[in-house]
Amino acid sequence: MSARNILVINCGSSSMKFALVNEEQATFPLQGLAERLGSPEAVLHWQLGDNKQSLEIPGADHHAALQHVLPMAQDASGGHLSAIGHRVVHGGEHFTGSCLINEEVLNAIRDNAQLAPLHNPANLVGINATLDLFPDLPQVAVFDTAFHQTMPEYAYRYAVPEFLYKEHSVRRYGFHGTSHNYVSKRAAEMTGLPVEDSCWLTAHLGNGCSTCAIVNGESRDTSMGMTPLEGLVMGTRSGDVDPNLHSYLNRTLGWSLEQIDRALNHDSGIKGLSGLSNDMRTLSEARMAGHPGANLAFEVFCYRLAKSLAAMACALPKLDGLIFTGGIGENSAPVRERTLEHLKLFNFKLDKAANERCTRGVAGEIQAEGSPRVLVVPTNEERQIALESLELLDA
Ligand code: ADP
Repeated sequence: MSARNILVINCGSSSMKFALVNEEQATFPLQGLAERLGSPEAVLHWQLGDNKQSLEIPGADHHAALQHVLPMAQDASGGHLSAIGHRVVHGGEHFTGSCLINEEVLNAIRDNAQLAPLHNPANLVGINATLDLFPDLPQVAVFDTAFHQTMPEYAYRYAVPEFLYKEHSVRRYGFHGTSHNYVSKRAAEMTGLPVEDSCWLTAHLGNGCSTCAIVNGESRDTSMGMTPLEGLVMGTRSGDVDPNLHSYLNRTLGWSLEQIDRALNHDSGIKGLSGLSNDMRTLSEARMAGHPGANLAFEVFCYRLAKSLAAMACALPKLDGLIFTGGIGENSAPVRERTLEHLKLFNFKLDKAANERCTRGVAGEIQAEGSPRVLVVPTNEERQIALESLELLDA
């Protein structure tokens, strides 16, 4: 059988990322992004091999963008796509793993939309468009939350009245599951440890950030909760704040819930702390130039990350390694160094040269002798979605 190709699609409210994953090739034969969908400025960018191109598609919605993308994917796959894998943000308690999409699955994704009102409807638009254009191709949904469905109840329940959980689904779900799952399996591969007998702490640090405790291939706890706002300091999200902050802001500033939501989700995090940018690369440069806000944002980011990792360690019977991933985790040697300085109790020691070496997609171990393992592992959510799609096709 020749190598199979999976088209992976990740729809946001006005954007769509896509990648063609070939099961035997390390790089994607085709990948791209459609943005500002639904507006006169809608545009499609793609890379076919080394060749980058863009096309203005004024007014195009997700369906119209996919009408451009699907023939390209067919061509790039030599005329044969095996399946389409869709990233879906919230699977609630219904989905403990990926699944082939049918009417029942579509209904369950729709039912979970109240838990992710910005994301699930956008994911459904993408799924419906590909079902319409390619009705005979198997389609798979891969959920950000599913990997964390193995958390024990004492890790996923909030200490709030029981009916809020039973009748209104108020509990911790966790996100970034595809990435935590992928990098922990890669780390097991890199170190020669069996997935089913190894324990990891993972830190996915992109625009959104979360930590996870993984025991024998299963998530036991994670820092994000009912929504992706809980936990770490992120690009524009505050992470944990005192829950009474909401009533305080309402009483003192007269802010509405929408204003508070916007402040905590879009104007906070390292952007809010620095007063400069949500981008860690920009902050790193500003920090070197002596910008006090950038330095503070860096310090709070690293301290809160270390604190979260120490908390996650409660879920592990042993530690085989700490894994850094995501744009910041894969590239920022200073963030890794500062975070480990806060975790001296765990006896972490850094090999500074190895830490500097592991950037821009270079994977490796960065601990010094006598330290627990510390790994930098580039994430690859598209490949993980493709792998899970292939597993379902084979089952
Ligand atoms: P997303 O969550 O949107 O997929 P990424 O995983 O690409 O985001 O991570 C984006 C973050 O990674 C940004 O804050 C960016 O500044 C940061 N980043 C990328 N390269 C570097 C670098 N060399 N040094 C510091 N931060 C970096």
